Amino acid sequence: MICGVLGGGQLARMLALAGHPLGIGLVVLDPSPEACAGPVATLVTSPYDDPAALDDLAAMADCITFEFENVPPLALEHLKGRLPVYPSPEALAVARDRLREKRLFERLGIPTAAYAPVTRPEELDAALERIGRPALLKTRTLGYDGKGQWPIRDAGERAAARAALDGRHCLLEAWVPFEREVSLIAVRARDGACAFYPLSENLHRQGILRLARSRPGDPLSAAARAAGRRILEHLDYVGVLAVEFFVTADGLVANELAPRVHNSGHWTLEGAETSQFENHLRAVAGLPLGSTAPVGHAAMVNFIGGLPDPARVLALPGAHLHTYMKAPRPGRKLGHATLHGEADEVERLLPQLLALGEGSF
Ligand code: AMP
Repeated sequence: MICGVLGGGQLARMLALAGHPLGIGLVVLDPSPEACAGPVATLVTSPYDDPAALDDLAAMADCITFEFENVPPLALEHLKGRLPVYPSPEALAVARDRLREKRLFERLGIPTAAYAPVTRPEELDAALERIGRPALLKTRTLGYDGKGQWPIRDAGERAAARAALDGRHCLLEAWVPFEREVSLIAVRARDGACAFYPLSENLHRQGILRLARSRPGDPLSAAARAAGRRILEHLDYVGVLAVEFFVTADGLVANELAPRVHNSGHWTLEGAETSQFENHLRAVAGLPLGSTAPVGHAAMVNFIGGLPDPARVLALPGAHLHTYMKAPRPGRKLGHATLHGEADEVERLLPQLLALGEGSF
């Protein structure tokens, strides 16, 4: 079985590593010849919208998936008629557009922040009138790691947001006073079977995920899973889906979807019976899902912009290191490490791992 993947970054790399023992090979298509999945997969170097390269990919693969939501929808449409594409282009179209996501949450009765679509400055003014401040202006598509977002707390920020708008399709969102951020990593198989990992609790810095902890037994898990199941079933989804939530005094407020394996689920490599990468491949390949049960507690720290000394990371009991073999660049995710074991021990060692990661900022 060969799975074609649009995108050859670290998510594709970890999918490829998970596929090897299952006998699932990966062909990845990426515009960069340096794509970090290259060394562990067959790499096709091409823009995503080159029909000839997409045809090559289709000829080599038995099914298609993607590792990020910004692949041109037309690329998936091109492949769809030829071989199975999971998640479907329709699911991708919803999950890559913040407005469609918000409408989906509303339709399924899942609480989300008040919002308004805005394109012109007058629409922004009217939306601010209705939603109030503080608020956040976000681009509808192509935003990631906090990019394409403008907070609006005062008149100066409002002027900056008006200027940033520049005819772009955006969404104005009410500021959510959250206590913490969690995500649900969910997976649905081709036959409709669903499975859910324990919630992940996430800390961001400058819009980039810094730390994710597994939260087996979190009391909000049932509500998150109920919402996740409604979304999976409504979209007839196949593969891994991440749902990000804010935790507020009133409960969960859905923020956004990621139609793919997700950084906040990297701890599943050691902290769950079956990792999110393996389960994504099982789902898209039409195989039975593996258990998502937790194996102890886990915490994952991202290494951004630089990597710590591997010997110091691996000297921490229960630590596992994953490097992506990418050239260092400020703000670039270059690897992560997971601590894994009893909850107390993980929490005791976590400050040391965070300190090692600190040097990488
Ligand atoms: P996003 O790209 O929507 O995941 O946003 C990146 C980060 O910005 C989130 O993880 C939050 O920390 C913060 N954020 C996004 N939307 C809101 C909101 N409506 N209220 C408060 N914080 C937000």
